[in-house]
Parts: sequence; C-alpha cells; structure tokens
Amino acid sequence: MKRAICPGSFDPVTLGHIDIFQRASHIFDEVYIGVFNNIRKKPLLSVEERIDLLAQATDHLDNIKVISFDGLLADYMIKEDIQVIVRGLRSVTDYEYEQGQAQIIKAMHPELDTMFLLGKPEYNSFSSSVVREIIRFGGNCSKLVPHNVYRYLKSRI
Ligand code: ADP
Repeated sequence: MKRAICPGSFDPVTLGHIDIFQRASHIFDEVYIGVFNNIRKKPLLSVEERIDLLAQATDHLDNIKVISFDGLLADYMIKEDIQVIVRGLRSVTDYEYEQGQAQIIKAMHPELDTMFLLGKPEYNSFSSSVVREIIRFGGNCSKLVPHNVYRYLKSRI
C-alpha cells in the first residue's frame, strides 16, 4: 500500500491546502494529514479543533486520515509505514525552505521520499497566517478557507 503524509500546522486549513490533499489522494492509496503540534507556537486553534475542521473539509475524500503528531515526522512515518511526504509549493521561498528539509530527511532515512506539488496560481497567496491576520482585524476570510472553517471561525470569534 502506497501511503503519503501532508504535514503542517493547518492553523487554520486553507483552500490551498485542500487542493494539495485532493491531488495527493488521487496519487496515493492512503493520505495522512498530519497536524503538527508545535509546542513553541501559540496557535489560533487547538489541535483538536484543527483535526475536526480538517476531517469535515476532507469528508468527500475517502482515502484521507487526519492525525496529529508531536515528535519527529520521520519517526511517525516509519511507525505507520508511510513512504512519502507531500508538500505544496507556492514560491521559490517555499522551495528553498523545503529543499533543506527534504535533503535532511533523505540523508537520515534514505527509504523516505519527499514529493512536491505546485500550488494552483489562484491559491498562491493563501496562507494560514494571512487568514489569522484577517480574523484578528475582524475581516471576511470566506474566499480563502473551506465553508465549514469559515462558519466555525465566524461563530467562535
Ligand atoms: P507550517 O505552518 O508548518 O509551515 P502550513 O500549515 O502553513 O505549515 O502548510 C503546510 C504545507 O502546505 C506546506 O508544505 C506548505 O508549503 C503548503 N501550503 C500552504 N499553503 C499552500 C497553498 N496556498 N498552496 C499550496 N501549498 C500550500
């Protein structure tokens, strides 16, 4: 079984992320969405909230599994027999960062691979941090996130 993982903070998930999940789900038998529980960042949403929102937003894709992890990504992958990391690329800046990450993982675990999918141009400026900024100033983020996420953020904040 070919398994991949899309790791990230997803605080909150955007339409750019969903596009990458959909495309990965057509390539692999099983796709994990790994919510990274970064204890150093102060998030807008708790890990449980992010997992629920991701699960609802990907409900139409039946080979997707939403999980969280707080240790090293490679250790989680080896434990779950996941062979590939899928990353979305928006820009050269994303690429420069991701190249380093991918090369470190490859050097440490030659059996693991990283695959890059180019983001759709219409989503290239979308990011969780832009959504958080809009929320902070009471703006409308409905064009950037899935409907369920928009409804949730509106009701909570
Ligand atoms: P982190 O906060 O850990 O950097 P994110 O949740 O922002 O992670 O993003 C997770 C992954 O999704 C990364 O590979 C990132 O490059 C990718 N990504 C984020 N936004 C987009 C987008 N609009 N289009 C394509 N890929 C994206």
